Amino acid sequence: MSKSKNAETIALHGGEYRSDPATTAVAVPIYRTTSYQFNNTGHAANLFALKEFGNIYTRIMNPTNDVLEKRVAAIENGLACVTVGSGQAASTFAILNVCQSGDNFVSSTDLYGGTVNLFTHTLKKLGIEVRYADPSDPKNFEKAIDDRTRCFYAETLPNPALRVFPIKEVSDIGRKHNIPLIMDNTAAPVICKPLDHGAAVVVHSLTKFIGGHGTVIGGCLVDGGNFDWTADPKRQPLFNEPDMSYGGAKWGEVVPQLTGANVSFAVRARVCLLRDLGAPLAPDNAWGIIQGLETAPLRMKQHCSNAEKAVDFLTKHKNVERVIYPTLHKGAVGDRTKKYFSGGNGALVGIEVKGGVEAGKKFIEALKMFYHVANIGDARSLAIHPATTTHSQLTEEELLAAGVTPGYIRLSIGIEHPDDIIADLKQALDASGKPSLKAVS
Ligand code: PLP
Repeated sequence: MSKSKNAETIALHGGEYRSDPATTAVAVPIYRTTSYQFNNTGHAANLFALKEFGNIYTRIMNPTNDVLEKRVAAIENGLACVTVGSGQAASTFAILNVCQSGDNFVSSTDLYGGTVNLFTHTLKKLGIEVRYADPSDPKNFEKAIDDRTRCFYAETLPNPALRVFPIKEVSDIGRKHNIPLIMDNTAAPVICKPLDHGAAVVVHSLTKFIGGHGTVIGGCLVDGGNFDWTADPKRQPLFNEPDMSYGGAKWGEVVPQLTGANVSFAVRARVCLLRDLGAPLAPDNAWGIIQGLETAPLRMKQHCSNAEKAVDFLTKHKNVERVIYPTLHKGAVGDRTKKYFSGGNGALVGIEVKGGVEAGKKFIEALKMFYHVANIGDARSLAIHPATTTHSQLTEEELLAAGVTPGYIRLSIGIEHPDDIIADLKQALDASGKPSLKAVS
């Protein structure tokens, strides 16, 4: 079994899996089963009482998912991971694992539009309040805290602004108040490790770079094992008060006692939230994501190197008003890219095409190789106009707070040959600057 710390090796050999114990199959099998035969009644009772860990029912755990979970946890330098049916489910579970009705949490304003909807509207209906903080000044997080604040939430590399989040700055503030930082690392797997910089939990949409082929929706929560859930019982009641749905268990105490590891967050998410809310990742989909994960570190290198070349080209093109990329930010924001990223600066690139919305539309329609889709992180190059699509349910104020200007176009640079990526961008940009036939006639 490889104990490597390198993502390239973990992606192929991690997960405590060498070959299938029953058949010696090398590729991870799809365990298409709902349930697992107990050895005897004592064994069954022990599993349910968490006195022994093992498979009970696929809504809560599955051996295919287990390999994926262990590999993602190892790549993130975390201790445990729980897979769920989508990235949205992962964000939902992350908040519901620490907040109940009457509680609040502080979130960065730089967020995926779907997460804004979840936080602003759906969680509000459940009695959980989101308080938004502008991450340009980490102190904004501290200003928003009160005694019902249970966590901080942010994205490592949020689009459209592509300002790398001040992970350590905000996690340090949180730790002073026993508030964990939850980081959505969807856009920067392998190249950024938020747990190494003080985050307590990482969530991913596995749909994106980790799955990598635009074939499977999935998500996960990684427990960093680096947060003391019992240090301030009033701050984290869900980990310190008896849980009457599980025989009065106090999760912050009982999980380290039973497992010898600080994985209370992951265990509670699995045995309470997956048990009650459902939303597991199907083993077939876990298998699909494992195929992607095996080459994710390799693909990330190519994504990032192609993105740098595209940025270089775009900044010189006469029809481009502005290019947005993590390394192009100046001052403290730009410095964070160097501080938190290694091995690349991401695949996401933003551009403002000269001529505003109309030129932007022309550009998108003229693209021949790039796909026009609402996704990021596919092996193929993708483009979209967020104001009229992914972020269209936001108010004008929310759009501007998120950095979505009317003419902004988001590119997710794929792993095709860089010359072909640049050739497609060039012909579409040239077309965007030409007067339309209607205007000529
Ligand atoms: N987080 C980020 C940063 C995303 O970009 C997305 C989807 O675009 C999600 C979460 C939600 O993921 P999923 O589509 O897998 O539910």
